[in-house]
Amino acid sequence: MSFESLGLRADILRAIADEGYSAPTPIQQQAIPAVINGGDILAAAQTGTGKTAGFTLPLLEKLSQRDPGKTPQGRRPVRALILTPTRELAAQVHDSVRTYGKYLRLRSAVVFGGVSINPQMMTLRGGVDILVATPGRLLDLVNQNAVYLQDVEILVLDEADRMLDMGFIHDIKKVLALLPKQRQNLLFSATFSDDIKALADKLLNQPTLIEV
Ligand code: AMP
Repeated sequence: MSFESLGLRADILRAIADEGYSAPTPIQQQAIPAVINGGDILAAAQTGTGKTAGFTLPLLEKLSQRDPGKTPQGRRPVRALILTPTRELAAQVHDSVRTYGKYLRLRSAVVFGGVSINPQMMTLRGGVDILVATPGRLLDLVNQNAVYLQDVEILVLDEADRMLDMGFIHDIKKVLALLPKQRQNLLFSATFSDDIKALADKLLNQPTLIEV
């Protein structure tokens, strides 16, 4: 199977070619068409399987298909929210967003705790299409009115099992309450505990199951 057959536009294929990838990994083969189709997905995937590109590539494709214009406040709305458990993973995921989206006109930012909040507030001021965040700092920014989540179209929970292990379930629930009900949800987890299953039940609508 080739990347060309998965429904990604030329400007994304060009960025993939720049990375030297010759073919999609198994998780990418399954996730990319499923996400472009618009459904929810529940993916069991370890690090190293290419899972990050598995959700980033179709997310970039979907956001490129429509220009939502600006909000009444004159900003670009956050349309995709990617939550990760750690700042390291957030930074890594954001690097992937930038790499695969380098030929697209989408803006992105990454926010996480443990560093000053002010530069992050400045970055968000002009609006971003894609926000990668750890849950606690995201809520801090929401509480400071630095970011609005009512226009989110796609939510990704990456390494959801680690987020629960780290005690983020309450923060995640608070974030979910801020999102529009009508949206696409992608849940990635290496393991499937009862807690993850409960979260998946609450979050996902007839998800496509992906296991690699
Ligand atoms: P991940 O599982 O998302 O942490 O990705 C693991 C590594 O695989 C990253 O360094 C990616 O750059 C790389 N990668 C992702 N997709 C592909 C692909 N289709 N072909 C070759 N390498 C890839």
